[in-house]
Amino acid sequence: MTRPNELVFVPLGGVGEIGMNMAAYGFGPEQSRKWIVVDCGVTFGRPSQPGIELIMADPAFLEDNSDDVLALILTHSHEDHYGAVLDLWPAFDKPVYATAFTAAMLAAKRASDQILDNVEITLMRPGQPFAVGPFTIEPINVAHSIPESNALLITTEAGRVVHTGDWKLDPNPIAAAPTDTGRFEAIGNTEGPLALICDSTNALKDGQSPSEAQVAETLTRLIAEAPYRVAITTFASNVGRIISIARAAQAAGRSVVMSGRAMHRITGIARELGIIDGIAPFLDHDEYKNLPRDKVCLLLTGSQGEPRAAIARVAREEHPAIDLNAGDRVIFSSWAIPGNEREVIDIQNMLIDRGIEVITQNHGLVHTTGHPRRDELRKLYDLLKPQVLIPVHGEAAHLEAHTKLGKQHGIPTVFSARNGDLVRLFPDPMIFPGEVRTGELYLDGNILCTPEESGVKGRRRLSFGGHIVVSIVVDGRGQVISGPDISLEGLPEVEEDEDTFETLIQRTVAGTLKSIPPKRRSDPEVLNSALQRSVRGEVGAFWGKKPNVTIFVHRV
Ligand SMILES: [Zn+2]
Ligand SMILES: [Zn+2]
Repeated sequence: MTRPNELVFVPLGGVGEIGMNMAAYGFGPEQSRKWIVVDCGVTFGRPSQPGIELIMADPAFLEDNSDDVLALILTHSHEDHYGAVLDLWPAFDKPVYATAFTAAMLAAKRASDQILDNVEITLMRPGQPFAVGPFTIEPINVAHSIPESNALLITTEAGRVVHTGDWKLDPNPIAAAPTDTGRFEAIGNTEGPLALICDSTNALKDGQSPSEAQVAETLTRLIAEAPYRVAITTFASNVGRIISIARAAQAAGRSVVMSGRAMHRITGIARELGIIDGIAPFLDHDEYKNLPRDKVCLLLTGSQGEPRAAIARVAREEHPAIDLNAGDRVIFSSWAIPGNEREVIDIQNMLIDRGIEVITQNHGLVHTTGHPRRDELRKLYDLLKPQVLIPVHGEAAHLEAHTKLGKQHGIPTVFSARNGDLVRLFPDPMIFPGEVRTGELYLDGNILCTPEESGVKGRRRLSFGGHIVVSIVVDGRGQVISGPDISLEGLPEVEEDEDTFETLIQRTVAGTLKSIPPKRRSDPEVLNSALQRSVRGEVGAFWGKKPNVTIFVHRV
């Protein structure tokens, strides 16, 4: 009996968490499937992971099937969708399909990280389907907060999938055409099984997300009414927003001065590709000094509170070319991604303390999301009429809300999947929980490692208890010839008239040595473990916290 061809979906990252999106679609009979991968993104390290910059989905499952992995397709160039490509994909030696903007973003990243040309890019365009093995893939233009975002229609003999990527229904997204709802409607009207794998980011929010054009109206007014300087910080990749700001500045007779490498890089790419045609060149921050206070509009990086970005340096009065004064206006045309709120608020407070007016989302529509709210999700269900829905791109709460919404709307099968589940989409939809090996990889400096291999646990311990190193040299009879030499890292300073950590440790070492019988004192291992115990114990009793202790006993 021949086994039937099946179309399956395997989320490897981004389902049950925000970030590091990666999904695999398989086609064929079980045991001999061909695979394509959609997106390969990163998450940023959290404060509980000291020193870890980037986290990505562990591609172990794909490595196990690497001969049958045919290609990677990128929906758009946000870090949570393409940030891991240069780290993970070279191992597969298979093509990457991306639009011109995404390809240019990848090339720029490669150049700035000085990485060799290690992935082969094939350009794709919306409305132009291409074949990869048994899959036909058609990119479909969707509105989002970065140029050239795509949903993907993936067609196989067993059925079809629309993988939305990140999208919204914005009638005027500024830097792109609106979402191609006509194409979605035509797909919905075509016979044959169809599954929808869909963005859940805003599934908890009612209504429809505001348009970029509405944000442009607010910004135009705020820029025109500003008495002195205006500085605006936003996501460097939100080219639509940058266009809106440039137009508003022009209308108010202000020149746009840009500061921040990421913004220069991305707008440079957009200009080269004709995405910001008709916008006057942005001035570099060196030209700032020559402009009158009411004739300048600053565009600054750092909307997430990054300490080295332009707005943070301006707030700390450390920017080499730009300063602001009381009465100037700063607009945060952004929101703080969870985890970044404290840093953003600190910058805002620094500015307010200097008499600078700070305008945020609390004051008006200075920012909008790039993701669909509930009415937009319902609209997409109506256009596509899918038999199967799988919510992705969200934490548990978002996925649950999206699952309920899909069921309420009458979609026959809704699976609340998580990373590592295997879902048979067609024929006979079925979910197999935890079927596939998944996990995280940390990028720690230049080293890619599993959480277990990483030194993060030790770093956390060090950050809590500091480190004490004690070194002594003893002779064959156990007499101390030199030391103890003591080095302290990360311990509090103690008042002069009290016991210091150093004197306490010296006394402890002397007392411990005395307590060991002379015969045993010549054994470095005995000394080592006795000193380890006593130093840790005595310092712990004094401080109220257990320090990390390393003892070196040298015998001569
Ligand atoms: Zn995105
Ligand atoms: Zn995303």
